[in-house]
Amino acid sequence: MSFAELQHQPSAAAALEAALAAERVPHAFIFCGPAGVGKALAARLLARTLLCERPKTGRGKHPTVAACGSCPQCLLCDAGTHPDLNWFAKPADRAELPISLVTRRDDSPQGLTINESVQLKPMQAACRVTVIEDAEEMNASAANAFLKTFEESPQGSYLVLLVTSLDTLLPTIRSRGQLVRFRSLPHRFVADLLARDTGLGADEAAVLARFSEGSIQRAAALARSDFLALRRDVLAALPAAGRAEALVIADAVMEWASRQAGEQQTTGKKVEENELRRTHLKRALDLMGSLLRDALVAATAGPEADLINADATPLVQRIAQRLAPDALERGLRRMIEYQTYVDRNVHNALLIENACLHMADLLAPLRP
Ligand SMILES: [Zn+2]
Repeated sequence: MSFAELQHQPSAAAALEAALAAERVPHAFIFCGPAGVGKALAARLLARTLLCERPKTGRGKHPTVAACGSCPQCLLCDAGTHPDLNWFAKPADRAELPISLVTRRDDSPQGLTINESVQLKPMQAACRVTVIEDAEEMNASAANAFLKTFEESPQGSYLVLLVTSLDTLLPTIRSRGQLVRFRSLPHRFVADLLARDTGLGADEAAVLARFSEGSIQRAAALARSDFLALRRDVLAALPAAGRAEALVIADAVMEWASRQAGEQQTTGKKVEENELRRTHLKRALDLMGSLLRDALVAATAGPEADLINADATPLVQRIAQRLAPDALERGLRRMIEYQTYVDRNVHNALLIENACLHMADLLAPLRP
């Protein structure tokens, strides 16, 4: 198990291996990049190598470091039971990473808090590793409770923060952690993995991969959500839809999002279900916007265009022929705007109706 396992992230793998090989491992890493591109896998590989008793170092032009795979520490890591590796993430039923997970409170869950994990002495290995997923989703009080521990973490206690954006991290944390960037994965790679893991056909997997923005996690979520069925219906109905039909499409989108949210929630809590519904509504808006985006690309790049809806090229080309680029651009901007409104507690049914009406009006030149 070496960093070669971390596919399509060459600069992240090289940065980690260089730090490990030079034995200059900073006390905190910030892994930043989209969800589902390998940050958690990289954190596991890093932790395993740090905890391993006999890591193997290759000193070629590019240094390589790998855990041995057979020492007691490696075996504990593989079993997922290493007492010096603690993993934290935002609970599914919470919109933020709560302070009770950072520091001991009456309502703290069983087991260690983040601060306790960082401050503990190693129990089995020579060091400890604490991984925090969704670290950018700490609310202000949680982040402040974490700050002192972060700044004063003991020697041999390593932190790995996994974030999708640096915007909401406290500046002190951002400036003192070593930033490692992760990028979107190639569509082809995502499609292959998706086809392997879900049994979807190559064409369907390719469509979902294109909507995934290079994230395996997002592609898998789209597959679970029956996104392909929604897309099929929307692509069939939208080009011919007048205003009345647009409202029918809006109903179908709302119904789909609510059904998926209901099926996928795991905690029975309303906050999780609402969050899931918003996620699905954003995907539906993304779908409508993707048609306009594709038409814009097709208008400029011609037949070589790299389309998200590559399997719907005739429709995309009709849109590109009938609509002026500035109208497409305005429409696309509107769909992106609607996506941001979804999170701002705007009345979502009304929002989706407006989006569908907007699309129907925009695509009116396609109707006979
Ligand atoms: Zn080992």
